[in-house]
Amino acid sequence: MGEYSIARDEAVEAAILDVLKNYGEVHSLESLHQLVTRNLRRHHPRAVVSPERVRRRAALMEGVRFQVEKRRSGREARRCYVCGGQLEPFETIDVYGKRTPSGRRCRDCGFRIEKRGYLPRRYRFYLG
Ligand SMILES: [Zn+2]
Repeated sequence: MGEYSIARDEAVEAAILDVLKNYGEVHSLESLHQLVTRNLRRHHPRAVVSPERVRRRAALMEGVRFQVEKRRSGREARRCYVCGGQLEPFETIDVYGKRTPSGRRCRDCGFRIEKRGYLPRRYRFYLG
């Protein structure tokens, strides 16, 4: 106990940026988490950060983009599964001005869940 220290948000964000600058693109949350942890430990050898926190920070960072590969599921997302933010409905408006409910969008990171019944399978992170 007391052996590890939880990395601060700023340190996690700096590490995410550094990793994406070096690799250009990272193809899974597992890889991003590993690379970020390694990067953090260059300065703080006992730093720890959870994969969920890496995902959430990355999603909310300016200049970091992500894509989510989805899989079908019977379950419906209650919160944004990228950053944990609240979802609100969004509509698309066609050329005739007709509005169609199109799914839900995260208030915090802007992630869109187009339909019911999709859950994340794999994440890709990159600078943009
Ligand atoms: Zn979100």
